[in-house]
Amino acid sequence: MAAALVAYLRDQHCAAQMRLFDFFRARSDLQTPVELPTAAHHDLCYRQLRALVHEAGVRPLTLMATDPAEYFAVMEAAGGADISLDVKLGVQYRVVCMLQLMAMIPDSVCFMSLGSNVQALQTTATFDPVTDEFIINTPNDGAIKWWIGNAALHGKFATVFARLILPLQGKGGEAADMGIHEFIVPIRDLETHAVLPGIEINDCGHKIGLNGVDNGALRFRSVRIPRDNLLNQFGDVSRDGKYTSSLPAINKRFAATLGELVGGRVGIAYCSVGVLKVAVTIAVREACGGHGYAAVNRFGALRNDHDIFQTFEGDNTVLLQQVAGDLLKQYQEKFKGGTLSVTWNYLRDSMSTYLSQPNPVTARWEGEDHLWDPNFQLDAFRVFDLGIGRYNETCHNIITKYISEWEAMVTRARRWIDFKNDYKTMDLNFM
Ligand SMILES: Cc1cc2nc3c(=O)[nH]c(=O)nc-3n(C[C@H](O)[C@H](O)[C@H](O)COP(=O)(O)OP(=O)(O)OC[C@H]3O[C@@H](n4cnc5c(N)ncnc54)[C@H](O)[C@@H]3O)c2cc1C
Repeated sequence: MAAALVAYLRDQHCAAQMRLFDFFRARSDLQTPVELPTAAHHDLCYRQLRALVHEAGVRPLTLMATDPAEYFAVMEAAGGADISLDVKLGVQYRVVCMLQLMAMIPDSVCFMSLGSNVQALQTTATFDPVTDEFIINTPNDGAIKWWIGNAALHGKFATVFARLILPLQGKGGEAADMGIHEFIVPIRDLETHAVLPGIEINDCGHKIGLNGVDNGALRFRSVRIPRDNLLNQFGDVSRDGKYTSSLPAINKRFAATLGELVGGRVGIAYCSVGVLKVAVTIAVREACGGHGYAAVNRFGALRNDHDIFQTFEGDNTVLLQQVAGDLLKQYQEKFKGGTLSVTWNYLRDSMSTYLSQPNPVTARWEGEDHLWDPNFQLDAFRVFDLGIGRYNETCHNIITKYISEWEAMVTRARRWIDFKNDYKTMDLNFM
């Protein structure tokens, strides 16, 4: 029963996940006890993360680049040991991946984005052309960024979202606000680990859950960083203070910058599923009842650790509104125009969707029943009615629909595939 449940829940990443479970099972010094003071939990979580990389041989960055599915499976398994470990690992390696500076980042990093009201972000990064630096400044207490994972104790660098300000570049010679960009800001000394001048860090204190993660609040007081510390994928500043971007519209840059958060949100979904798997396994094993109330069975801790998943990677209420807004936009797009063209567009799209289902003419079913099936014959007539040219075109569009996304993803993961001179095949052995 137990083996069957493990095989069912762990599926294709069973081996990788079981390796991690075995590692923690054999290391009582790395297991999270039922009761633990906050400071000790911070320390344990840090040791768990180091052991995962240095002793268990997990290579999160390599996995992220070569096999993201296995990376998320490993994260999920880390959450089985302690959900704090999963979150700390996610904060640490997502940021390092964004920086693409693996060799230069020797220790912990944290990730400082925003609350829900992103447009109102107040922290600025003002370019100083004299010293070739940005000056990072949080203008008031209300603009302090709270809850940053890894900030209170272990982080040495932060990725900071701030408004990029270019002096004298606006209309009439005033400063120009180029919108939100990301910057790497050192927050602690690499040798002594002391907090650097101009940086204020406050611990967010004991939490309802996830107490292995050291969350902190950060404020910057005119902190200077080199111009190179701008993460310049979506916009850059030259030595003489000129701004360039492949995305000239500020809202496009904004969307692209925030798009960086999507990977983290995928990780959150994986982790939630992982929490469910742990809870189900314990429930089956213990047959619970009253025992479910014993802290050692972890239900309370799992619930407390998991509650914040609705908020900390983007508040669910706000994300729901964003999805609803986008769906309404798509709906409006679909039904704009006169009645006739709307009907025609609707029918055309329905036909494309219909054709995206298994090809009705060359289906691989060979039985007599299939050939006599009136639905199959009707489908075949529909395809012939559409015309073979249009049918081929529709099939081609369906198959190549996601090429640009795939190319962007592969390029982003720093892999190389020749998309311009590639060889396309429908041979199932290669699919
Ligand atoms: C444990 C923990 C860990 C975190 N880790 C990190 C981290 O590592 N890095 C980081 O950058 N941040 C981190 N955060 C911060 C997190 O990203 C924010 O808390 C989250 O985005 C919500 O923003 P907020 O706290 O400013 O709440 P607000 O956005 O102010 O929301 C407050 C309330 O208002 C509601 N609300 C907001 N806007 C709307 C709207 N338009 N319509 C209707 N209702 C609305 C929300 O639903 C919520 O109930 C963490 C937070 C926690 C608690």
